[in-house]
Amino acid sequence: MKIGIVGCAGRMGRMLINEVLAFEGASLVGGTEHGQSEHLGADLGSLVGKPETGVIVTPDAEALIAAADVIIDFTIPEATRSNAELASANDTAMVIGTTGLSASDQKVIALAASRVAIVQAANYSVGVNLMLGMTEQAAAILGDDMDIEIVEMHHRHKVDAPSGTALALGDAAAFGRGVKLGEVSARARDGHTGARKPGDIGFASLRGGDVAGEHTVIFAGEGERLEITHKAGTRQIFAVGAVRAASWTLGRKPGLYSMRDVLGLK
Ligand code: NAD
Repeated sequence: MKIGIVGCAGRMGRMLINEVLAFEGASLVGGTEHGQSEHLGADLGSLVGKPETGVIVTPDAEALIAAADVIIDFTIPEATRSNAELASANDTAMVIGTTGLSASDQKVIALAASRVAIVQAANYSVGVNLMLGMTEQAAAILGDDMDIEIVEMHHRHKVDAPSGTALALGDAAAFGRGVKLGEVSARARDGHTGARKPGDIGFASLRGGDVAGEHTVIFAGEGERLEITHKAGTRQIFAVGAVRAASWTLGRKPGLYSMRDVLGLK
């Protein structure tokens, strides 16, 4: 299976290089960066402190996508959007990890997924995907008596908030309750906010240091509180899941799939 990595010099890109090099049956066909990157021309192996692979970083997403069976994209929304269009035009499957996508980016991805297999997940760890199911189930069982709050913490470089995973957990909780997250989410509280609105799903985002990703869903009721927490100790878990998802796309019919599909948790 020929795998290409877009954004290969990023924090996740480098983890993905390591993972693809170690994955049996996978070959690393290339990696891209944006046109101004200082890493253009670098060998992908050297980027991660490994022996040279003979594959170098280029800015040519189209050539990479044409050469690959599947591409893995943990970049920025603009790049992911255009890569989805290229993937669909080239019959190349895609694994998307980028977060902070807009509704219109999401439409482009859905359209591309009508032609090729695309796996998209806000979080590729096995634990978080189990947590999504647990959150949905707890929200359905506990009902509106319990207030739902979602707290996340990430490293100081993260550019979007709340995290894509926090929003996915919010979606799972809302789904469990039979409501739409957009109608009940409380994304920020500051100043004289008044009392908490019943049924709200609240979010709080903390940023600092090198935290790979921590999420807690709190169900707070009268006299008791249930908390479901996941802590990622390393970003490598996301790369392991993303490469597993890439291999899962092989021979898969077109469609927009989630990591829960890949793990058989649906
Ligand atoms: P990063 O900034 O370290 O890496 C992004 C890389 O993309 C950079 O190297 C950047 O130069 C490159 N890039 C930007 N525009 C490009 C273009 N047009 N073509 C090619 N490359 C381009 O960020 P990161 O921490 O690796 O995170 C990347 C994304 O992945 C974020 O949206 C983050 O939230 C998300 N993420 C998702 C998961 C998950 O499990 N789904 C896990 C971690 C991070």
